[in-house]
Amino acid sequence: MRFWIVPFVFVAFLVACGQESDRPTVPEAEQASAETAVPAVELPPMGEAVGHFHPKGKPPSEHTKKILEQARAELPFADKRDFEEQKKGFIAAPKSRKIMADAGHVAWDMDRFQFLLESEDFDSIHPSLLRQSVLNTREDGLYEVIPGIYQVRGFDLSNITFIKGKTGWIVFDPLVAAETARAAKELVDEHLGERPVVAVIYSHSHGDHFGGVRGIVDEADVRAGKVPIIAPRDFMDYAIAENIYAGNAMNRRLFYQYGVLLPASPFGHVGQGLAQGVATGNTGLIPPTRIVEKAIEELTIDGVKMVFQNTPNAEAPSEMNTYFPDMKALWMAENVTGVFHNIYTLRGTLIRDALAWSKYINEALYLYGKQAEVMFASHHWPRWGNERVQEVLRGQRDLYANIHNQVLHFANQGVTINQIQNVYETPAGIAEQWYNRGYHGSPEHNSRGVINRYLGYWDVNPTTLIPLSPADSAPIYVEMMGGANKIVAKGKELHDQGRYFEATEILDKLVHAEPQNQEAKDLLADVFEQIGYQQENPGLRNSFLAGAYELRSGIPEGESPKTTGPDMIRAMSTELFLEFLGIRMDSRKAGGMEFTINLVTPDNGERFVVELSDSTLTAIEGFQAEDADLTITIDRADLETVMMGQKTLVAQIEDGTAKVEGNQEVLNQLASTLVEFELGFEILPGTKGPTADADLNPFEVGPVHLGGE
Ligand SMILES: [Zn+2]
Repeated sequence: MRFWIVPFVFVAFLVACGQESDRPTVPEAEQASAETAVPAVELPPMGEAVGHFHPKGKPPSEHTKKILEQARAELPFADKRDFEEQKKGFIAAPKSRKIMADAGHVAWDMDRFQFLLESEDFDSIHPSLLRQSVLNTREDGLYEVIPGIYQVRGFDLSNITFIKGKTGWIVFDPLVAAETARAAKELVDEHLGERPVVAVIYSHSHGDHFGGVRGIVDEADVRAGKVPIIAPRDFMDYAIAENIYAGNAMNRRLFYQYGVLLPASPFGHVGQGLAQGVATGNTGLIPPTRIVEKAIEELTIDGVKMVFQNTPNAEAPSEMNTYFPDMKALWMAENVTGVFHNIYTLRGTLIRDALAWSKYINEALYLYGKQAEVMFASHHWPRWGNERVQEVLRGQRDLYANIHNQVLHFANQGVTINQIQNVYETPAGIAEQWYNRGYHGSPEHNSRGVINRYLGYWDVNPTTLIPLSPADSAPIYVEMMGGANKIVAKGKELHDQGRYFEATEILDKLVHAEPQNQEAKDLLADVFEQIGYQQENPGLRNSFLAGAYELRSGIPEGESPKTTGPDMIRAMSTELFLEFLGIRMDSRKAGGMEFTINLVTPDNGERFVVELSDSTLTAIEGFQAEDADLTITIDRADLETVMMGQKTLVAQIEDGTAKVEGNQEVLNQLASTLVEFELGFEILPGTKGPTADADLNPFEVGPVHLGGE
C-alpha cells in the first residue's frame, strides 16, 4: 500500500502531496471488509452515508443542514458578478481535463470535480464554498482578459498569464509543474498562434508561481540572455529558504490544510478556494536574471511597458504587482484575488503583516487603480471596468486593514489569542462581498494570527504559561469526569444535540488519555466531520475532515518522498544547508562531541567554519579556524550531489572529488547525530501506523517544502 504518494520531489511541494488522481479513498483492507462483510462494529445511530468514501463516514446531521441552510439564506447569492466575470473572454476549453505527468501518472485532473456541477446544492458542503468551487471548476480553459492579455486558468493551483509583445509572449507565473505549464502554452499556441516566450515574470516567491518554468522556456535561452526572467527583490532568498527549517512539519500539516488524503467527494475534498488543487508534476526553478529592486520600477520588454510595484512582506516575503499603462491593465499578483487570503497559514508560515498588505493595495489603488480599466491576478478571474476595479481594491484594502485594526482594538482591551476567534467579525459591508469571503484565510484563524504576530501565543493566564502536555493533562479530566463511558455518553449527547465544539472539548481529553480507545476516536471523528461540513473555508473543512480520517483509519503506511530536485538544491545556499544540518541533529546524540570543520567551496569562493560544541552545531560564513580538526575542500557543484543524495560525501572523498585534511572521523560523528525526518508523524493520538524506513545519505537534504500560499 502506498498512500503517501509522494513519489517525486514535489510533493514536497504544496501537495506534498497527493497525487491528484491518485488520492486514496479508503485503505484497501477496510474497503475489502466493507464490501464483503457486515461491519463488526456497531455504527452510530445515523448509519452510513450513501456515497461516502469511508465506511465509517456519516451524512450531514440535521444541525449541520440547518446551519448550511441559514448560510444559503443570508449570503448575497443574488450578486452574480463573479459568474459573469469568470466566463467573460472565454476562448477555448482544453481537449482533456487530465494532464499527464512526464513520469506517467496523472498530474492534473479536473474530471474529479465535475460532480460539483451536477447539483445545485450538497448538504455536506457549505453553500459559499460550493459556489467558489463551482466557479473554480468551470475555469479550465483559455481566456482573453483584453486584446493582448490572455490567461490559462484551471490548469493548476495558479493562473498562467500571456502578455503579447512585439515578437512573442511575456509569461507571468508559470504554474506549479512543467507539465501543466507546457499544456497551457500548447493551448495558447493552438488558438492564438505559435509565438516564442520572450520573457518570464515571477510575481512572487511561492512555488505555484515559478515551479513550471521549465515547461515554457529552455534554460539555455535564459543563460544566453535571450529570455530574461524577472522577479521581485529578494526573490531567491525566499523562493525556498522560507520553507526549509520547518519544511517537514509544513509538509505534514499540508495533509490537514490541503486534505491530501481526502478524495474528491461531497464528503471529502471539494476544492482549495484559490483553485481546485495543485498539480503533481515536475517542479523546477530557473533563477531570475533581472531583479526589480526599487519600490517602483519601470521596464519595457518586447515593446510592452510595465511598472512594477514591490510589495514585500505581505502575501509573500517577495512579491510585486505590475501596471501596464498603455493597456490600462493592473496585475495584482496574489495581493488581490477572489478570496480573503491567509494572514496565518494553517500549513505553517511566519504570520503575515495585514497592515502592510492593506497599505500596498491602497498604494496600487492610488497609483494605478484610478486609471485601470481591468484588473487581473494569479488566481481567479479578472475584474473589468474602472468602477469594479476600484470597488474590489477598496474592499480588499479595507478587509486587511479591518482585521488588523479591530483585532488589535480588542487585544488592547484584553481579548486574547484564545478568544479573538469568537469575538472578531468582519463588518457586514466587507463580508457581503464575495471576493472578501474566507476561501483561503478565515476570520477565525486570521484574527488569531494578528494577535500572534504582535503578542505571541501566550494569553497571559499563568495556567497556560507552562502548561502540561495534552497527554499529561487529559487523565485527570477523564478521572474527574467519571471515566471513558461517561464521557462517551455525554459526547454522544452533545453530538446528537449538535453541540459539536463542546463535544470536541471532552472527547479530545478522552482520546488523549486513552489513545487506543477506538470508540472515543470514532465519536470524535463523527464530531469533526460535522464541523468540517459546516465550514466555508476549505483549509478548515479539510483539517476537520483530515482529522476524522486519521482518527478512523490511522495514518496510512507509506514512504516519504526521498529526494529534492536539482533546481531546489541549487537554490539552497550552503549556509542554509549547514543550518539545516543543525536542525536535523539530535543534540541528545551529540553529548560530549566537540570538533571544528573548515569547509571550503573553491568554485564559488565560499568558506565556512562549522563547529560542534555544547551538543549544538553552528556555522559561520567567511571564516576559517586555525586549529580545525578537519578541512574539507569540495566544489559547491559537487557538494550539491551530496545534498541531492546522488553521491555520499565519503564517496566524494574516496574518489578525490573532495579533499580532506585532518581527522575524517569527525564526519562519522556528525553523521551519527543526524536524524531523517518522517512525513508521517502522529498528530492525533493513537493514529500512528508502521513507518517505512527512509534511507537518505547522511548529508542529503531530503525532501523540502517549497512553500506557497
Ligand atoms: Zn499562488
